[in-house]
Amino acid sequence: MNKFNDFVWETHGIHAGTEKDYVKHGIDKLEDIVDKAIASKHPSITFIIHSPRLTNFRYTAEKNTNIKFIRGNRSYINYPKRIANLRKKYKNKINIKFGVELEWMGADLGLQWSRSKIFQAEDADFVIGSVHFAPEGFPYDGSKEEALELLKLRGSLEAYWNGYFNEMIEMIEHFGDMIQVIGHIDLPKLNVEVPEVLQNFENSSHPLANKFRTLLEIIADRDLTLDVNMAGDFKGVGVYPTLNILKRAFALQIPIAIGTDTHHVKYYGYKFQESLQYVYQAGYKHYVSFSKLIPEKRTIFNNHNLKVKYTILNKGIELLNQRFHNNHRRIIPDFSFGGSFTEFLDVYKNATGMGDYNAIRIRKANKSITVSNETPMPENHKVKGLFSEHLDIPGVISSLFNTLASEGVNVETARLKSNNDGTAVAFLTLEEDNGNIKNAIDFISGTDKEVFKTLQYKEEVDLPNFYEEGVYLLEMDGVEIKLALSKKVILTKHHNAPGVLLILLSALASKNINIIDLRLGKRNKTGYSALAVDGDKHVINNLLTKLGDQYYEANLIEFHSM
Ligand SMILES: [Zn+2]
Ligand SMILES: [Zn+2]
Repeated sequence: MNKFNDFVWETHGIHAGTEKDYVKHGIDKLEDIVDKAIASKHPSITFIIHSPRLTNFRYTAEKNTNIKFIRGNRSYINYPKRIANLRKKYKNKINIKFGVELEWMGADLGLQWSRSKIFQAEDADFVIGSVHFAPEGFPYDGSKEEALELLKLRGSLEAYWNGYFNEMIEMIEHFGDMIQVIGHIDLPKLNVEVPEVLQNFENSSHPLANKFRTLLEIIADRDLTLDVNMAGDFKGVGVYPTLNILKRAFALQIPIAIGTDTHHVKYYGYKFQESLQYVYQAGYKHYVSFSKLIPEKRTIFNNHNLKVKYTILNKGIELLNQRFHNNHRRIIPDFSFGGSFTEFLDVYKNATGMGDYNAIRIRKANKSITVSNETPMPENHKVKGLFSEHLDIPGVISSLFNTLASEGVNVETARLKSNNDGTAVAFLTLEEDNGNIKNAIDFISGTDKEVFKTLQYKEEVDLPNFYEEGVYLLEMDGVEIKLALSKKVILTKHHNAPGVLLILLSALASKNINIIDLRLGKRNKTGYSALAVDGDKHVINNLLTKLGDQYYEANLIEFHSM
């Protein structure tokens, strides 16, 4: 039997403080808690901050000061910078994630306010949508007195909860594309009783039970993640949500994220192992964390081999999801597993098997990729093509493609390898020889003599082995690629004709972006390219928007997951 992990990749993690505010909230000295995490040998730590509220959504404690202030306003604006500084300070010591807990304050001004707050927290790893305040102006998680005021206004326990669920549903309808996670779904239990019909919501025909079932189904349909929140446990009302809710979520295949939601250093790491055991009781064997809005899968077990496999899975999810626009990135793809990954078939509902093929295929809409940590076998059949040995500097590959294109020669496949000594080798297979290959070689030798050491067209030769250990992108949309993944990868899908790829290569050369590796693939008239590159992401992204409509898709893929 596997042991549960004693570490959790938190999402609703540690609340960063409001610094100089009149009513303090959260932890101000973030360094203290990072040091604590490092001392505990934790690979990662997650901060979260509340978005500031509109002025008429105030807790009694805030109203009772004689100064009017928007709690956390200044610290919220500073927050991304504080995190950036922390990341710099603790570089290579610990991975630091950060997110925002967005306050739902109704669909009118509250909605515009919240949109503006998301812009201020650009680059966040995730956004949690939470309802803390009723439109009547009373908080669900304030004092008992505030809750009782609201209860009196609404008239019954059922009406109290019904209002909360309505606000949740309204939040998802308006915010669904801006958030990844639903915060503490049964928060009102902090201050009021849970009515009988809700305790048995699975079987009850009461409208409130029906409303709650609907809420869970909406969460499932929108591919949102449910927050499993330990704050309820240390506040004495039990984990948010209760186990029967979590079981229902599991049945609906709703992904879960786990966190302590702590505002005090003393609760850092609170019952990490128990929280994993808790979700396991509901059927979950994994949960998610987030990196740049993309969900990462995490095993609940303390098992090294399993963690390695999840790392490969996460790289794949990250890669595929970055082929989609932002608001589709949180949607978890479908999977197929083969070879040593076959054990995942039991964990992922609806996953299909790939037999002995030792890889993970990840698919969503009309896109798919296949990844593996198995180093591809060297191909030992005889090949014909263009062999080159040249200086490893930006622009060389572009120059090669340039001259071939000028002779109407289309490159079919390309492999590139740096010798790590200032030189590199390339092997290109070319579409049928139109009689101009020799001419092209002569031109390249004339134009770039000092760059190319050798450049020869050979037939019936052994293909050199270009493969080293790594995580490989084996296929893209079913087309063979076999690129070893590095930190930055460009993937394109384009019209496969002479000169098209040259547009990309010239664009990169114009900004001195070095190509570390390059693979091409094709299916009929559609070409695919995968390039491992080195350079500034803003420069590269800017180039990729300008390639023209012969490019059906061109994305820079970056890897943040661990
Ligand atoms: Zn909250
Ligand atoms: Zn919170």
